[in-house]
Amino acid sequence: MNAGIYIHVPFCAVKCPYCDFYSGRYSAKDAAAFTAAVCRNLNTLPQDLPADTVYFGGGTPSLLPPEMIGRMLCTARERLLLAQDAEITLEANPLTVTAERLAAWKQSGINRLSLGVQSFSDETLRMLGRKHTAQQAKAAVLSAQEAGFQNLSVDLMLGLAHQNSSRLRVELETAVTLPVTHLSAYLLKIEPETPFGKTPPPLLSADETADRYLEMHSFLTDAGFCHYEISNFAKKGYASRHNCKYWRGLPYYGIGPAAHSCHDGKRFAVPRDLAAFTAAPLQPETVTDEAALTDGERIMLGLRLSEGICPEDYPASAQTLRRAAAPLIPQYLSAENGRLSMTPEGWLVSNSVLAALLRDIP
Ligand code: SF4
Repeated sequence: MNAGIYIHVPFCAVKCPYCDFYSGRYSAKDAAAFTAAVCRNLNTLPQDLPADTVYFGGGTPSLLPPEMIGRMLCTARERLLLAQDAEITLEANPLTVTAERLAAWKQSGINRLSLGVQSFSDETLRMLGRKHTAQQAKAAVLSAQEAGFQNLSVDLMLGLAHQNSSRLRVELETAVTLPVTHLSAYLLKIEPETPFGKTPPPLLSADETADRYLEMHSFLTDAGFCHYEISNFAKKGYASRHNCKYWRGLPYYGIGPAAHSCHDGKRFAVPRDLAAFTAAPLQPETVTDEAALTDGERIMLGLRLSEGICPEDYPASAQTLRRAAAPLIPQYLSAENGRLSMTPEGWLVSNSVLAALLRDIP
């Protein structure tokens, strides 16, 4: 079974007011120490571990000099059995995208870019504290295409009070006229320990958010995207292979401060501490779950995907599951070809649907 490799790059040029991902200010010295520590840790993964995805997330991995990304990828190739056609993703801030960097990323083997666009509206970008403009975001997508990247994802953020139907439509129209093959749409979540936690911006009501979500579903599916996961849309063949590992319960190994792993039936986490990560010969990882991926957990993860789950894959729980699902069909759940999946309306209230489904499942 092929594993996924996640590398958490903990640097950002500026901290966005809504974000609680682990990242600090970039410095050349810290970046060099980080890269050396990632390579050390890659070399402790099981020799010849079969892997078919590498994902540089963060933080802002595109802030790193491309040769450092190249060095980490070379180490991964030497240590692991990395598939020829591995999906290798780099998260990139539009302001870091230049022709030189794009060429260097391509040269080192990056074949998928995930651009942190967040919005194609300058007003929304300003409210989100982002430093790029809509024009710069569009230019970044087009330059990436020109440099030969076909697998291009953009992130969009939903939830500010002014995001009415027509504004959302303009954003989505912009996205689909660009050569984008994947779109992640996140609801703005107010995290208590962030500037937005202390001074939240005006937000959409729950009903308005639900309307926008369903409008987005209709617009993007009409435009040829598959709503393949609760927050993700892709053209055929462009679903994120790496992220699907999380939802299908496949093994992944995380390297870097704040990285998580799941393999051998356990979950692991690395502390949010760059200094501790770079100082230690081996990342100070702790087991956070000794018995990961119970039936209940697999069902919960699987129902994030439009492919859903097959109750028969959980023989001990199948009957309970079918009984609990019956009253939720067809509004919140769909049952087709022996599989159970959530409808977009189900995803909107997924916590309640899961609570009803999993009440009697361990
Ligand atoms: S949203 Fe992205 S760029 Fe902004 S602070 Fe978080 S990780 Fe950094």
